[in-house]
Amino acid sequence: MTIVTRFAPSPTWYLHIGSLRTVLYNYLYTKQHDGKFMLRIEDTDRTRLVEVSAENLQEVLASVGLIPDEGPNNPGEKWPYFQSERLDIYQTYIKKLIENWHAYYCFCSSERLDELRTEQQELGLPTKYDKKCRYLTPEEVQANLDAWLPYTIRLAVPEGRDISFTDTIRGKISVPSKDVDDQVLIKTDWFPTYHFAVVVDDYLMWVTDIIRWDEWIPSTPKHVLLYEAFGWEMPRYSHVPPLIGNDKKKLSKRTWDVSVEIFLQKWYIHEAILNYIALLGWNPKTTEEIFSLSELIKRFKLEDVHKAGAVFDIERLEWFNSRYILSYSIETLEDKLKIYLRRYNPKLLETMSQFPIEYNRKILSELQTRLKILSEYEELTHFFYHEKESFDTSLFINSKMKISTLEEVRESLEFAYEILNNDTYNFEVIEDIKDIFIQKISEAGKKNGQILWPVRVALSWEKFSPGALELIYIFWREKSMQKIQKSLKLLS
Ligand code: GLU
Repeated sequence: MTIVTRFAPSPTWYLHIGSLRTVLYNYLYTKQHDGKFMLRIEDTDRTRLVEVSAENLQEVLASVGLIPDEGPNNPGEKWPYFQSERLDIYQTYIKKLIENWHAYYCFCSSERLDELRTEQQELGLPTKYDKKCRYLTPEEVQANLDAWLPYTIRLAVPEGRDISFTDTIRGKISVPSKDVDDQVLIKTDWFPTYHFAVVVDDYLMWVTDIIRWDEWIPSTPKHVLLYEAFGWEMPRYSHVPPLIGNDKKKLSKRTWDVSVEIFLQKWYIHEAILNYIALLGWNPKTTEEIFSLSELIKRFKLEDVHKAGAVFDIERLEWFNSRYILSYSIETLEDKLKIYLRRYNPKLLETMSQFPIEYNRKILSELQTRLKILSEYEELTHFFYHEKESFDTSLFINSKMKISTLEEVRESLEFAYEILNNDTYNFEVIEDIKDIFIQKISEAGKKNGQILWPVRVALSWEKFSPGALELIYIFWREKSMQKIQKSLKLLS
């Protein structure tokens, strides 16, 4: 039997990092079994809809490389994938349940239901429908329908038994049927509720495995009853634990800060994101931590997903990100930077394109070891691409480097200028630049910091930057000389 999984989001918000982990687990499990991974959009709750969301969701999945085998953007035999386009199907199936007495019409008004709820709350009872309409005679039901009374259709939960299912991660779960509400399956507007549509669609789409957040465990007994009522074989359930923040609270779904889009915008490498979130809640049983997607497909085991919530720690994600940045060849990193800038910062890309390829490459390779997230790139490289008009010369003073007066700064800059002025030296190779400067500084009986700190400041006019010799290497000799002269002028 082909394994079929699905991601079935309600398009109510941007894709959340926790939902991406659910997608990833579905994806890994499916690919391990040569199965099929489907995307279905559960848009039956019309009040909570966000129009951008379904489109955005598919874009994000595509940009992290988790493309469903079938879904709205790549339709196949199970079309349509928006539940709002499948309303006829639900009508056909609800009729079957009514005929078999597994569902019934409920004509209670929302006012009555509100009163009932308030009463139950006041008595400290669980809020549930009191089944008033469940025992209406067929004649009473018909009379109400003929009178055009608005209605919902509810699940007739059987009495006096346990409802059980086996979860791959949590084992057997059983609840007494008295604790399960006669759930509304079809609403007054004829739209199905999530509970009804999810079961019908999972069945019709031949879904064999449901991997989703554990917040759906309390709903599963209702789904189990529906499978039983239709006489359908149940899928396997695997409920994965939530992601929690450092405050130990569940990460809110509707927070922009934890939407995948924001991580992509800040340029977290998508391979790093997938690697990190795969490990949130799943134990690979090794000390290794860096796994490519194809390695994850090989190693992932659904049974080894934990029951307890996993802490989503942004610093850990940064660590993974910097590891990935470091692991790329400069050409690969360059390609990734271009793709990113084209999408999120075309202005910077335009600026960079006006500079020699070699220059851009040297900057990128210098920053490769320090970048945690690539969106820092613009800020860190600003001085390489733009000339400042002025700056605070007190930056030159640095007691640790034994530079306490601007006069000393001038001396150091003139000293460096002289070295650069000698065009018999080779300033093309970083090692050579280092050798020349270190030798000259020591011959003059000076300390490295005494010369290199002012040079670094003169070349960057920034509090933080790569070191002086790296800057000389990147700017080349002439540009470095011009910059030193500019600072000397400013000092005089
Ligand atoms: N539409 C539900 C959600 O957005 C799907 C739950 C499920 O996977 O069954 O969470």
